[in-house]
Amino acid sequence: MLEYEAALARILATIPATQPERVPLAQAHRRILAERILSPLDLPPFDNSAMDGYAVRAKDVQGATTDSPKSLRLRGKVAAGETFTGAVETGGCVRIFTGSPLPPGADAVIMQEDTRTDPSKPDTVWFLDAVKPWENVRFRGEDMKHGVVADEAGGELSAGRVNLLAALGLAGVMVGKQPLTGLLASGSELIEAGQPLTPGGIYESNRIGLAALITQAGAVPKVFPLVKDTLAETREALAAAFAECDVVITSGGVSVGELDFIKSAFEELGGELQFWKVAIKPGRPFVFGQWRGKFLFGLPGNPVSAFVTFLLLVRPALRRWQGAAEVNLPRQTAALAESLSNSGGRRHFMRVRIDDAGLVRSAGTQASHILHSLASANALVDVPPGTTLPAGSPVQALRWE
Ligand code: AMP
Ligand code: MG
Repeated sequence: MLEYEAALARILATIPATQPERVPLAQAHRRILAERILSPLDLPPFDNSAMDGYAVRAKDVQGATTDSPKSLRLRGKVAAGETFTGAVETGGCVRIFTGSPLPPGADAVIMQEDTRTDPSKPDTVWFLDAVKPWENVRFRGEDMKHGVVADEAGGELSAGRVNLLAALGLAGVMVGKQPLTGLLASGSELIEAGQPLTPGGIYESNRIGLAALITQAGAVPKVFPLVKDTLAETREALAAAFAECDVVITSGGVSVGELDFIKSAFEELGGELQFWKVAIKPGRPFVFGQWRGKFLFGLPGNPVSAFVTFLLLVRPALRRWQGAAEVNLPRQTAALAESLSNSGGRRHFMRVRIDDAGLVRSAGTQASHILHSLASANALVDVPPGTTLPAGSPVQALRWE
């Protein structure tokens, strides 16, 4: 039986570097950037106004107040998207708008609210306030200089990051491919939603939850039909899934029962088992194997075991496959509102809920078939064997919601 870190290291060591693909920026949100991007321009590309108002020479309005305004000659107007021909000379000003290029000669913008005009004197503007040089001016390159690193390979493109890349004029970017991830559920007791429940049967639920987590991990789920507990059916189902998918995830059929066929069926297909069993709770009977450059993750059937082993061992692999630099669940330091106890001999990844104040509570009963506590959980806390973490202690919660 492997320790968790050893199991994760074994998995990550076998995941290949992905072949990136080019996608339009509009489809790049949440994808893993596969190239370093150097800013192709100064941002903003030119000095411009931060206000609607007037471009002036700061010296010309020195000492202006409401009681003793200074007046300047209006020499023209520059709208956003235009450029001003000519320059602002001493004694002159130019009507300007937010985002308009600053005309040559001007060194400040006075906001419209600090000015007065008189329709009978359209060439004159009165200034009711002074301005410091370069006030209300946004400088060329102050956001990002031409040639600096705008984004790095390995990061997930957030909404803010694609927004920046759009401002730099990028139409597309190289991103990691998304593994097509097949989902099989094995168990003769499993019934599809919508079908009548038969004696001894239960509704199959793992594929839906895992598909949601696969999508959240940036990969593409593909759900396959239910698999009965026979060696032949399991082998056929695995063959069909591997024919199409980059990664295959199964649930159920990896324990020690004589009707657990995932491992033997996989080996019959020529698959290479890398390891079986990890010293964690829930989820001990976890299987990892390789088949012609593709990967099998055999998860235990108990719904919480499948869910948690996905988060701890499969999600990192799917992230690495896409080229992500950070593959583990985000950690949040939080304080326990109540104690958490693990009397067993394996690390227990307990499902908890972190509230808005950052306090952590058990999400409820921790047994691996209990779904209501999974539904209300948003994080896991790793509690070492034979340990009670007292109320008030700081913990590193692993968040997935
Ligand atoms: P197994 O790992 O096949 O021994 O299954 C362990 C437990 O999980 C059994 O109670 C199964 O009925 C249940 N189980 C297995 N697969 C699923 C599934 N896809 N959906 C819901 N429960 C399942
Ligand atoms: Mg079973």
